[in-house]
Amino acid sequence: MTRCAVFLLYAMLVISGCQVDVSPEAKTKSVLKLYVFDCGMLRFESIESFSISDDEINIRDLIVPCYVVEHEKGRLLWDGGLPSKTANVDGWHGEGMLSRLDRTFSEQLLEIGLDMSSFDYAAYSHMHFDHVGVANEVNGATLIIQKKEYDAAFADEVTVPGFDPTLYNNLKDSARILIEGDHDVFGDGLVRIISAPGHTPGHQVLFLDLANSGPVVLSGDLYHFAISRWERRVPEFNVDRDMTLASMDRVEALVEETGASFWIEHELAFFVQLNKAPAYYD
Ligand SMILES: [Zn+2]
Repeated sequence: MTRCAVFLLYAMLVISGCQVDVSPEAKTKSVLKLYVFDCGMLRFESIESFSISDDEINIRDLIVPCYVVEHEKGRLLWDGGLPSKTANVDGWHGEGMLSRLDRTFSEQLLEIGLDMSSFDYAAYSHMHFDHVGVANEVNGATLIIQKKEYDAAFADEVTVPGFDPTLYNNLKDSARILIEGDHDVFGDGLVRIISAPGHTPGHQVLFLDLANSGPVVLSGDLYHFAISRWERRVPEFNVDRDMTLASMDRVEALVEETGASFWIEHELAFFVQLNKAPAYYD
């Protein structure tokens, strides 16, 4: 504690120009930062394929976020949003499921002084098209991926619905760390990939221990809507229902144990309240 802060605390005097540092421990831990980006939106006519009937809730729009995690030992991209080409057409477009992307991720990265070659690591919750949209543009990052996800994504015949190899084929030969289970990215417990398979063979979520904001779980597609969480709804497009339910249990136990904030990545109503880059959580 600085002499200035001690003086302030003990004499309880307010002196302009002195910064009160009541939590030096928090300050030394606040090397970790989380930036949140809008990487597109999806609009569904019907949400029945999420195992939610259309008259239960009236939500039809999903946000598609990307995240950048800054640690003193390196920078991690978590999830890659919709393909950048989605931004070539203004507004909503497509057939059946509509999509839109108002600003590409690389455009937004420039605002915090980064580009697609600024990442040490890239990890995607899973390889569905709406999570790896910029994967081929990321350059020089080491991919951290579950071995089962890698094998399914690069099989001779890709059979997982929602996987589009044209979006991520550059990753096949990129530097990678193949994991089977949980992985502590920087070795200090602050950034941990948690295995949560079922939605896809190697689906995973991200646990962050932020000094000031507290622990957070970025939950990938473990759930798509808040109701999915409360009622343990497993969508139809899911490779292993029992495994998904077991992953829900495991992640919920972690949330309970750590008191982490739980972020449903696709939940628009939650996302609109978040501070977006260039602001950050620390
Ligand atoms: Zn998704």
